[in-house]
Amino acid sequence: MPKDIRYLKGVGEKRAALFNKKGIKTVEDLLYYFPRSHEDRSETKEIDSCTEGETVCVRVTVFSPVRDTRVRRNMLVSTMVVCDSSGALNVVWYNNRYVKDQFMTGDEYVLYGKITRRQGKLEMVNPVFEKKGAERFTGKIVPLYPLTEGLTQKVLQSSMELAIKDVGRLEEYIPSDIRERYNIAEINYAMKNIHFPEDYESYNIARERFVFEELLILQLALFSRKDDKTEKRGFAFEDVCCVQEFVDALPFSLTGAQKKTLDEILKDCKSGKMMNRLVQGDVGSGKTAVAAAAIYTAVKNGHQAAMMAPTEILASQHMETLSKFFEGTGITVVMLTGSMKAKEKRLVLDMLALGVADVVVGTHAIIQDTVEFKDLAFVVADEQHRFGVEQRAKLAAKGNNPHMLIMSATPIPRTLALILYGDLDISIIDELPPGRKPVKTYAVGERMRKRIFAFLGKNVREGGQAYVVCPLIEETEKSDLQNAQMLAQKLQKIFPDFSVGLMHGKMKPKLKEEVMDGFVNGDIKILVSTTVIEVGVNVPNANTMVIENAERFGLSQLHQLRGRVGRGNEQAFCILFAHGNNEVTKKRMETMCISNDGFYISEQDLKLRGPGDFFGTRQHGLPEMKIANLFEDTAILEKSQEAARAIMEEDAMLSSDKYIGLKKRSDKIIDDEIVMN
Ligand code: ADP
Ligand code: MG
Repeated sequence: MPKDIRYLKGVGEKRAALFNKKGIKTVEDLLYYFPRSHEDRSETKEIDSCTEGETVCVRVTVFSPVRDTRVRRNMLVSTMVVCDSSGALNVVWYNNRYVKDQFMTGDEYVLYGKITRRQGKLEMVNPVFEKKGAERFTGKIVPLYPLTEGLTQKVLQSSMELAIKDVGRLEEYIPSDIRERYNIAEINYAMKNIHFPEDYESYNIARERFVFEELLILQLALFSRKDDKTEKRGFAFEDVCCVQEFVDALPFSLTGAQKKTLDEILKDCKSGKMMNRLVQGDVGSGKTAVAAAAIYTAVKNGHQAAMMAPTEILASQHMETLSKFFEGTGITVVMLTGSMKAKEKRLVLDMLALGVADVVVGTHAIIQDTVEFKDLAFVVADEQHRFGVEQRAKLAAKGNNPHMLIMSATPIPRTLALILYGDLDISIIDELPPGRKPVKTYAVGERMRKRIFAFLGKNVREGGQAYVVCPLIEETEKSDLQNAQMLAQKLQKIFPDFSVGLMHGKMKPKLKEEVMDGFVNGDIKILVSTTVIEVGVNVPNANTMVIENAERFGLSQLHQLRGRVGRGNEQAFCILFAHGNNEVTKKRMETMCISNDGFYISEQDLKLRGPGDFFGTRQHGLPEMKIANLFEDTAILEKSQEAARAIMEEDAMLSSDKYIGLKKRSDKIIDDEIVMN
């Protein structure tokens, strides 16, 4: 039975309640409350060799005990003089009622604190002090814990020291062969040194163990949720060189990053194993062109291909793009969406089943049961966070393990990608086509509104088009959010000569499409919209984007939205209306203004929110990390991922005794924390 924290010496009911609040119920739980940093209190000096500004330990004898002076009503100053064989030192505390009777002349103490100088004399202010011979938290490296209400650093340090003694020997649950292979420290060594390290090297060794452990357990939990981990056989394309015809016919030459990604895809397609690949690339990096080249290759090898988009608008855009790309190639492209008439649908279904149509572009409608293919070998899916493992599996079932290409326009740090898409290979398009002008971005306040609208009007008058994005559609009583409908009316009044369109999530698909068509063909000059336009729409003529209540959007979302402009050759602008004086908001807006790089922005997003938050359950369905920093611990992550794979291969159910401890812990994560799509 694990020992309840309240029975740990010095804890008791009251402190136990405070620990419980932090999720610490047992003594063992406490051990996993890791320090946020350490303080090196190991340097001890003689008084006369101390210099101003350094923080050190001194071993001293009390010369004259504490004298209290009340300087002001609210200011109590306590002073004492101590000495060692080399000299004397003044010790000062401010507003500390407890030190008065602590010290007797002749007592020997170790003090730790910062040396200052006042009126020519050395002084130490508010030092940590311990009786000589009974030192616990001086003269060595000492842990500093994230503080929590009512628990001081001293209480945490002392409880932790006792807890380590109290639990005795911990049971190791990472099997020794794994620890040996990946050079991972044993748990008892690691536990002691994560809290009370001999030196920083020992600390790092200890930390690595717990990071490895945490990531290993997380990945075992994630893996166990995926039903099939074995590598599947897939189509082996005989001739992938034919892609060159397609590439040569493009009106532009591929960027280096596009070429590299295309090579990676085609290599997979040739290999005979089923491809599962994620292509990450910033908005406008040319993912679609790469996908089209791969589709071309699939068709030229005698197969069918499918491309799936999260919305009808996007599906029709892909349809248009692909039709253009495949003009004159003899490839037949059809479209399939939920809103199509039954008769049209029937025809498309027949064409696909008979193999008359080579490529289908569509929405989720593609994965419905009625859809059959003659020979589906290649599938492209636009990710947009909505395309889960299950849907991928459904699509795979439509063909005989078709190759899968998932496209994501939300760059995320590599570590996170490895965890979230652990079962996918990853290609990154980290280069934009040449000649793109970065979108000029400005964060403004409400008092700039008139000028901004004038600027918007000028851009439209000169032939451009504008998006105005609002966070919500209906104004709730409490909400002060800009209302898209009202804003559209207002803009129509200001610009009676331009047609102002409105689009929001609650509109019928048909109507949405009409509005979008109007914007694409230029009838609508200003499109007021909620975030429905976020997903990949492409209107090169749009050069101005205004985002209302920008503080309400995440950085990655703002970046996605901004990616809707700057797709043509004209200089494009993005105006962020941000409210409030919040420091984080300011930093976020600043990030948007200085950078157009999605990877950088997502990194900043991560930094500004802090790892716990970014990787919290809310955003990605992952549990909060206790010690691993998903942003920095890439190397350990890769090791732990390799280990997790090897373990799953050996014993997918983790049923052998060897894995009992790991199984218990990974099951716990699944039960407690992972709520996945
Ligand atoms: P993404 O899907 O990654 O956001 P797209 O594939 O829609 O980007 O490409 C954006 C635009 O850039 C399209 O108009 C496309 O034709 C064009 N494009 C793609 N690759 C290149 C390239 N290598 N050189 C010039 N333009 C390109
Ligand atoms: Mg796209």
